[in-house]
Amino acid sequence: MKMFNKLAATTLASTLIATSLGVTNVTLASGAGEAPEGTQLNQGQQGDMAMYGNTENPKNIIFLVGDGMGPAFNTAYRHFKDNPDTEEVEKTAFDDYFVGDQSTSPKDPEDDVTDSAAGATAFSTGHKTYNGAISVNEKQERLKSVLEQAKENGKSTGLVSTAEITDATPAAYAAHVKERGMKDEIAQQFFNDKINGQHKVDVLLGGGSKYFGEENGNLKEKFAQDGYEVVENREDLLNSKDDQLLGLFSEGNMPLQIDAPEDDPRLVEMQSIALDRLQKNDKGFFLMVEGASIDKSAHPNDITGVMSEMEGFEKAFENATNYAKQNPDTLVVATADHSTGGLSMAKGKEYRWDPEYIRQMKHSGSYMTDQIIEGKDVEEVIQNGYGFDLDKEQMKAIKKEAKALSKLDEEKDGDKYGEQKQKLQDAIQKPINDKSNTGWTTYGHTGVDVNTYGFGPGIDSFRGHIDNTDSAKNIFDFYKNEVQ
Ligand SMILES: [Zn+2]
Repeated sequence: MKMFNKLAATTLASTLIATSLGVTNVTLASGAGEAPEGTQLNQGQQGDMAMYGNTENPKNIIFLVGDGMGPAFNTAYRHFKDNPDTEEVEKTAFDDYFVGDQSTSPKDPEDDVTDSAAGATAFSTGHKTYNGAISVNEKQERLKSVLEQAKENGKSTGLVSTAEITDATPAAYAAHVKERGMKDEIAQQFFNDKINGQHKVDVLLGGGSKYFGEENGNLKEKFAQDGYEVVENREDLLNSKDDQLLGLFSEGNMPLQIDAPEDDPRLVEMQSIALDRLQKNDKGFFLMVEGASIDKSAHPNDITGVMSEMEGFEKAFENATNYAKQNPDTLVVATADHSTGGLSMAKGKEYRWDPEYIRQMKHSGSYMTDQIIEGKDVEEVIQNGYGFDLDKEQMKAIKKEAKALSKLDEEKDGDKYGEQKQKLQDAIQKPINDKSNTGWTTYGHTGVDVNTYGFGPGIDSFRGHIDNTDSAKNIFDFYKNEVQ
């Protein structure tokens, strides 16, 4: 049961830090005396189910997306969080809320496996489309998203992500472009597209400040002129007051939680601030929260990064379900868009997956790779990032790939540079993948079904096996049936 105590302690710590910054309006819902014992949690949840059931439309929806979080990620994370001193494998915050799974395939002339753009279009609009499309169909006609419908219904809306806020998943809720790479245009649409004379998204929190600066029409300033509070670090976020908020905490994607500096807000903090603002609307809210770098760590097969981001996403999910228990007109749904990397608990012939070594890691594989590329000493980077000693051969292999990469130029050598960068990262991660016996099959996505977790009014329509488009269809149904 240690796990629950540890989580509670972490949450409490976050609350304390918030308090020390002079913030009184941040309440992480998970600090509110929830029963930490597994059995009690079970009984409590059944009681809540009976109380709130599927009897009415949810006024508020928190839709969480674990990008790339295939079923193996949830199982592996349970073992990663396990207390080795007890015989049982303790449940994660997700397990008691498992409701079913979703198929994810796109409607693409070539691909059978979805990307995040087609995936997010499916669960934000209810339509299948081609890979790369942001809420447009194959004729490039706009498809209405559930966030846009929420705004039409007079609700408040929010998008929170650890990626660039213009990345495919958040983009699909509030922009319509033929190709996900059009991030300047996506940011422009966040500002320019209006519903009933109002901006579509009231709270935007994540990375990607480079799409909101001078080079893209000073969008940051324009949002500020229209009354948005603009914040760029954790302290300013926690001290922010306004109901409409633009928070951009890094140029590109936000750093992984295991590597992030202190003044970076964590996903659960961004979510808490978003909830604090959105809940002021009597008509309710729609909030999408994305743990984006589960996927971004799984692409280069970085198991340390994956577990770091699963942990961040679990905290956000736990906070969301606690919020829903205190606000019974709130539906929480968590799912994924696809699985990434073909993560496998065990590889080769051994019946073994040993996360103990991952728990000892101090930095992700991606972080160590970037440090070496920046010119830091290889041995020093590895010693600072690893929780156990590497043998001479492993260190030699890393140095060899680092040397080969240093001879290439990112601009000039393009693909070759990318391939060599991955070779370096593979060499850096081989010791942890071998020690933990973690397997991977691809640097891309896989087509398996993904799990659905949830709680609150309306959750019954997500039960069993559904299609990813059903997530949007269910939410449109709630909004259609809403008493205006
Ligand atoms: Zn991906």
